Amino acid sequence: MTRQILVSGGTSGIGAGIAQAFRDAGDAVTAVGLAGPDLDAAAKDPAFRGIDLKPLDVSDQAAVDAFAASLTQVDVLVNCAGMIRRMAEYEMPTFLKVLDVNLGGTMRLCLACKDLLAQSGRGGAIVNTASMLSFFGGPAVPAYSASKGGVMQLTKSLAVAWAKDGIRVNAVAPGWIATPLTQALQDDAARSQVILDRTPMARWGTPADVAKAVLFLASDQADFITGAILPVDGGYAAM
Ligand code: NAD
Repeated sequence: MTRQILVSGGTSGIGAGIAQAFRDAGDAVTAVGLAGPDLDAAAKDPAFRGIDLKPLDVSDQAAVDAFAASLTQVDVLVNCAGMIRRMAEYEMPTFLKVLDVNLGGTMRLCLACKDLLAQSGRGGAIVNTASMLSFFGGPAVPAYSASKGGVMQLTKSLAVAWAKDGIRVNAVAPGWIATPLTQALQDDAARSQVILDRTPMARWGTPADVAKAVLFLASDQADFITGAILPVDGGYAAM
């Protein structure tokens, strides 16, 4: 039976690369993202051909519940929706919003898909998206760092809680990946050089680099792996 994959944040950047990699592997893929320019552009982009694209705000509980009620099969859930607001995160409303999307949105979709994942004949798998800022402090991104530290701990907690339900829960922790989220850094030659100097493999990662690790964690090659946080970072976390 064809696997059904759900990717949040699948309309841009890393999530788009993940959605496309599952599609290329022969899986049925639904990719959700915020309504707006990303989704509109994806709907017109041939790179998304064969992927079911839908709007969903993962910080909207009622919308997540209604969306989940429309699903009949989920074998793999990839939580990749995320936002960053940098120094504005020192203002409380923005701090809470970033937590609600990055951490709250991850938990919302995990809860909403749990029963279907447990029913997956192949064993359900969740792959969350952590970050280098799950491990390191980020003085310019306090909410983003807190949310990604939370995603790491949530991943471990759900892995322990849901093993009995046949659901594996892991996360990838991308290093510096070239996407719209990091466009400002890529465009700043001096800051980009600092990142490259700090990355042993001395290049920006790509969404395809992250997708390969996600497909592995979602596959039966990773049957006995749960609660793992896998860096996909060109060695950044090792240095
Ligand atoms: P991106 O900006 O290209 O894509 C973000 C995606 O999240 C888009 O599809 C957008 O529609 C979706 N999104 C944002 N808010 C949403 C909401 N409220 N509800 C539903 N979807 C929402 O960014 P990206 O770089 O591809 O980041 C994807 C994930 O990877 C994020 O969780 C990010 O924190 C994480 N990450 C990125 C990097 C990097 O270097 N790019 C590094 C580590 C972790």
